Amino acid sequence: MIILRLYLSLNLISMAYYSIQGIQLTDLAQQFGTPLYVYDADKIREKISVLRGSLKGFPLSIKYACKANTNLSILRIMLQNGVDLDVVSPQELALGILAGYAGNQITFTPSGVDFSEIEFAVDKGAIVNLDNLSVLEKFGQKYGSTKPCLIRIKPHVFGGGNEKIMTAHPESKFGISIHQKEEILTIVDQYKIHVIGLHQHTGSDIKDGKTFQEAASALFDFAYDFKDLEIIDLGGGFKVPYSPEDPGVDMQDVGQLMSQSFLEFSRQYGRELRLWVEPGKFLVSEAGTFLAQATVVKNDPIKTFLGINTGLNHLIRPMMYGSYHYIFNASNANSASQKAYRVVGNICETDTFSFDFNGKQDERNLNEVQEGDIIALANAGAYGFTMASHYNSRYLPAEVLIDQGKAIVIRKRETLDDLTRNQVFP
Ligand SMILES: *Cc1c(COP(=O)(O)O)cnc(C)c1O
Repeated sequence: MIILRLYLSLNLISMAYYSIQGIQLTDLAQQFGTPLYVYDADKIREKISVLRGSLKGFPLSIKYACKANTNLSILRIMLQNGVDLDVVSPQELALGILAGYAGNQITFTPSGVDFSEIEFAVDKGAIVNLDNLSVLEKFGQKYGSTKPCLIRIKPHVFGGGNEKIMTAHPESKFGISIHQKEEILTIVDQYKIHVIGLHQHTGSDIKDGKTFQEAASALFDFAYDFKDLEIIDLGGGFKVPYSPEDPGVDMQDVGQLMSQSFLEFSRQYGRELRLWVEPGKFLVSEAGTFLAQATVVKNDPIKTFLGINTGLNHLIRPMMYGSYHYIFNASNANSASQKAYRVVGNICETDTFSFDFNGKQDERNLNEVQEGDIIALANAGAYGFTMASHYNSRYLPAEVLIDQGKAIVIRKRETLDDLTRNQVFP
């Protein structure tokens, strides 16, 4: 009877969160320890096919913006599913090659880097995406028309979940202003630079098709003066759902709008062009769950603090961007027992995980927590591990991939050697 009640009180939506491919989160925590990043390979494949299915009628390349998650096993899943890479540093490029990518499947889209990094990428056969006039000039001087490139344009549009993750507004550091077309064309003509594509990336957490369309049409208007285009790269930024109630981006809807505008542009441009998109978060965010353990339930007169064995050293998005992660007690499925907790980390900073969407609420209702319970944070597959640090000299989390119903360690837990490896006593 009690078991039946417990079962019935489970919210059907959130129930889906308690296991991955049939493996209970609590079993994963027990087997591999916490804090632990867990990734669901099926979810990544599902998102790839949703994206492919929504952008139709022309050649399409998906360029995974791998700064979201660079684990080699994740990169390999992308490779096996026909997804190319977008990288922002020579090290990401090297990781891509280690995962099995050929240089020409990789695009290097850095911001304001030394020209030696561009040369490194070109040497590896990668296609570069240039984001300032100075680097365009250096590229022309060194390579003339011998190497293809893309140019990153800043279209002066506002799009993105919040100011910190907008990249195309007038004051953004990214890309060459759309108002500097003459300067660009002068350099391109002078060195006969082979510009095969134009690129823009509006920002992150965009769910509105109109925003993508606005940025795209600014880029299209700009593009007619470039005669050798083969590619239009519209960037990433597709919003994901952050809670069981949040719809996220309607990819069918956005895809249809983007596809229509792109086809229309290709017709007017007079050539079949290839569309590139560079999603990061969209492909990997929902695939990831971050598992921690409740170390202390502190019943303070002001509120109840739930302390967990991780902090902003392992998942900094809530503190850095005010990002929302759905948090639940993986050890207790009885939603009749909910209480409000302020979920906090163990780092010597104010590292609160439980801010609400608007940043005003700092508590969440969780099924009642006992010390030792496993606390899970959803949507942790993107910008989770890749932003982790050794602050407070704690070890980075381990990472586990669930594929074909099996859990495999894809990054081991660290030891003291990892903290001291490169340190030298004078
Ligand atoms: C970060 C980044 C992306 C991906 O952004 P998401 O919000 O994760 O989709 C795409 N393109 C470029 C150039 C980026 O820097």
